[in-house]
Amino acid sequence: MAVLLCGGAGYIGSHVNKRLYREGYQTVTFDNLVYGHREAVKWGDFIQGDLKDQNAIEQVFQKYDIEAVIHLAAYAYVGESVAEPEKYYCNNVANTLNLLHVMRKYGCRKIIFSSTCATYGEPERVPIVEDMPQHPVNPYGASKLMIERIFRDYEKAYGMQYVVFRYFNAAGADPEGEIGEDHDPETHLIPLLLDAASGKRKEAKIFGTDYKTKDGSCVRDYIHVYDLGTAHLLGLRYLENGGKSDFFNLGNEKGVSVWEAVNSVKRVTGRDFKVVSAERREGDPAELVAGSEKAKQKLGWKPLYGEIDTIVEHAWKWHERKRG
Ligand code: UDP
Repeated sequence: MAVLLCGGAGYIGSHVNKRLYREGYQTVTFDNLVYGHREAVKWGDFIQGDLKDQNAIEQVFQKYDIEAVIHLAAYAYVGESVAEPEKYYCNNVANTLNLLHVMRKYGCRKIIFSSTCATYGEPERVPIVEDMPQHPVNPYGASKLMIERIFRDYEKAYGMQYVVFRYFNAAGADPEGEIGEDHDPETHLIPLLLDAASGKRKEAKIFGTDYKTKDGSCVRDYIHVYDLGTAHLLGLRYLENGGKSDFFNLGNEKGVSVWEAVNSVKRVTGRDFKVVSAERREGDPAELVAGSEKAKQKLGWKPLYGEIDTIVEHAWKWHERKRG
């Protein structure tokens, strides 16, 4: 039996792949390589394909006995989703329906899905727990919430078993340095700060310094990508043991402001760099911090690398290696 990783050549997917493979799972990565990297798939089998192509998905199910699917394939640029919602609804929602259709056809009923804290929109309070209202403020978050909704209906009608993970801010890199974050374009805070530290960018920008937070900058919950990998492993075992379909936040339950992230990068890298205040970025909630008690209780999840300095240290090691 194999586990199919859709989007397994991406940042989070490649770390999940390594974690599963090391635990003895046979993994098959299916990725269109639009944003993923072939060289990030260092474990298991790889098939290049797109979820818009139902035949391509079927071929994978014909070739392998797929026990479960981990579905991480999506477009994930918030700003782009506002400008081009059709692209997001087609790729993230419609193409997921293709996958679910083929899964049904081949009797595969277990799925782990990458959702996001962006499904909560601007939360009424933090920490955010799973049963709080979900009112996404951009098409990216809305597309993920639609799929969550689809799962509820597919469970009732077709017996689909799911684990939905709502990631907070994925960060860091493989502690062994084999894989890491490699987005193009890069929009995420920590890699951009590392670019400023290494001199690749001339300065770092703080998007908004007048939020009602501890120091005026946005607060986020950064979660190590290795710990996300562990959660997927536990989620898979949970489904294998007949666990009930459920939704889980994955975060460290700790708020880190943009300024604190800047200071952490300066501390860890030992480099100083220019930091400038900039306008708020549209659609950024002031504070997003996870309540992750449910994943701890029900899955036995225990994040290993909760300190922002450790997350930055691993990301920096990868960043330096990538630059050669
Ligand atoms: N941010 C920033 N400067 C940057 C990039 C991001 O101040 O150059 C802020 C952004 O406004 C947000 C936080 O850093 O509050 C994390 O942003 P990121 O894009 O990494 O993740 P998001 O929270 O959007 O998923």
